[in-house]
Amino acid sequence: MTDRRKPATILGTRSVAEDKAHGMVAPAIGLSTTFKWDDHRGKPPYDYARRATPNRDQLTGALAELEGAAGGAVTASGMAAIDVCLNFVSPGDIVVAPHDCYGGTHRLLTHKARRGLFEVHFCDLTNPEEAEAAFARKPKLAYLETPSNPLMRITDLARCAELAKAPGCLTVADNTFLSPLLQNPLDLGCDMVVHSTTKFLSGHSDVVGGAVLAAKQELAEELAWWANATGVTGPAFDSWLTLRGMRSLEVRQLRQQETAGRLAERLSGDPRVARVFYPGLKSHAGHDLAMRQQKGPGSMLSFELASGVSLERFLGSLEIAVLAESLGGFETLLCVPDTMTHAGMEEAARREAGISEGLVRVSVGLEAAEDLEQDFLAALEAGNCAD
Ligand SMILES: *Cc1c(COP(=O)(O)O)cnc(C)c1O
Repeated sequence: MTDRRKPATILGTRSVAEDKAHGMVAPAIGLSTTFKWDDHRGKPPYDYARRATPNRDQLTGALAELEGAAGGAVTASGMAAIDVCLNFVSPGDIVVAPHDCYGGTHRLLTHKARRGLFEVHFCDLTNPEEAEAAFARKPKLAYLETPSNPLMRITDLARCAELAKAPGCLTVADNTFLSPLLQNPLDLGCDMVVHSTTKFLSGHSDVVGGAVLAAKQELAEELAWWANATGVTGPAFDSWLTLRGMRSLEVRQLRQQETAGRLAERLSGDPRVARVFYPGLKSHAGHDLAMRQQKGPGSMLSFELASGVSLERFLGSLEIAVLAESLGGFETLLCVPDTMTHAGMEEAARREAGISEGLVRVSVGLEAAEDLEQDFLAALEAGNCAD
């Protein structure tokens, strides 16, 4: 572990009161696509906005400090950030990924592999034997995601990073579900960390973005090079909005986590709920590992309705929680992975990953915990047909 500053201090001070012209405390928005040269041989630090802009650099710097990274690239979306990492593999190389990774990632890997750009090997990396067997195939890149979506399975990041070392495999961890506040994959030995900043980091459900950061300088520079070469860097205004949203990351996420813990306990004791998946529950298969590897269980959970509870009636009766994809915003969202977030996966792959038709995923927001609990309990009662 490092002696870097605490997240709240990083978030409260990064790019604050740095304006020389007017003394502005909040960072200015700079939308210029091009920058003036003093002479034709002396390339200025900023030349063209696809490569770099002050706002994008401010965000990259803040994210890098939070993750303990040397640097990286801020991209137009989380998928673009993931795609940047795929520039490190060539035809014939093996990419290892969890069978229950984010639906969009599953789709990207599957379809790029079909085009022959690499071979993809999906497996259950939460299972130590399967993980060992996967790394024995000498992959070039291991894509890790923990907690997994939507079942919150926990993968041992330090163990995977260790297994990857011998074959010289690059490891990248998708840290979207926890944010740098609750988990730091680079500290656990991973080479790169990916975020969909659309989620917890921006936190207000109003900007799509992504980032990929590397522990080592050389890899960080390669990421930035590829992001510029392929043109996937994010807009300056989006970077400004994301950094603005991040200022309150700690208070948001800690409150959401507290409410999620209460809701998970409440749902797991309810006969109208068959199973609850939340790393903070002792009954969760990955509980001990999560408590060691993470700084908290997070605010994402999923649950299966008991048989006899109508999904349609349950969903139709909720008054606070909104049925929508995405997560990590100020508002409580819920979705049905089978027909929504994970519909891009083939049905067999969904079942293999344990995604049933009655599974509901919840991203807990900032509403009062009592009101939210009441909303879920009332909707469960309304959905209960087994009287
Ligand atoms: C949303 C998400 C992505 C993709 O990010 P976008 O910003 O939507 O492109 C990747 N991984 C995880 C875990 C996500 O939740």
